[in-house]
Amino acid sequence: MRVAQLGTGEPEIAVVAGIHGDEPCGVRAVERLLDDRPSVNRPIKLIVVNEAALERRIRFVDEDLNRAFPGDPAATTHEGKLAHDLVSELEGCLAFSMHSTQSHAEPFAIVNGVTETARDIVPQLPVTAMVETSNFAEGRLFSAIDTIEVECGLQGSETAAENADRLTRAFLTAVDALPGDTVRRDLPVYRLTDVIRKDQADTYEVFVDNFTEVEPGAPFAAADGEKQIAEESFYPVLMSSNGYQDVFGYSAEKIDVLETQAVAD
Ligand SMILES: [Zn+2]
Repeated sequence: MRVAQLGTGEPEIAVVAGIHGDEPCGVRAVERLLDDRPSVNRPIKLIVVNEAALERRIRFVDEDLNRAFPGDPAATTHEGKLAHDLVSELEGCLAFSMHSTQSHAEPFAIVNGVTETARDIVPQLPVTAMVETSNFAEGRLFSAIDTIEVECGLQGSETAAENADRLTRAFLTAVDALPGDTVRRDLPVYRLTDVIRKDQADTYEVFVDNFTEVEPGAPFAAADGEKQIAEESFYPVLMSSNGYQDVFGYSAEKIDVLETQAVAD
């Protein structure tokens, strides 16, 4: 784990990259900040987490780090120990953690609850949606540390790296660490309700777009040509044919739209 700092004093904000070793976009954003060394109004901690997995360009060495929190110093896995070390390092910080996916090119935010912090900061980020995943929080970083996660785009793409840079700067501006103003936008909020499982098969297909409502009766995915039909309407989130081993993604409900006027006062 690599830990660096911009500014002096005890940081209360942290930028976290490389929780997953096959998602290099956030690391690029952190390296760029370290190269540019912008002058900051508040100290910022910068962390590149899973260096062993990043070197090998694999998601994890022993187990998924974002299912391993809070971790344990006596854990037998690399990620079990790393989770504990990261939590110690982030104690007292609001963390901004960057990820990328195989399912959706447009950046969106993931939070563990629609808290005051989330309502204030996320509409100032260049994201198209906020997803509340408290039903599926177990083992994730934000179950242990106050965290805003962002999905920056498609894994390994140049666009995801550019998005990671823009998202980080918007976050740091929103928390008054960098000077300047952010743009607030209306933001739809979704809550994950279910996992969409997939059966063992040779080929997988997904017929729907993330964040676009699926009507009851519509086929939304298939395993070896066997179609899955929506029983009730839902919004697909993190859906992709081959992104995860045993799930297509998640179903969600739309719970709110945060409007700029409502959060401005
Ligand atoms: Zn990730």
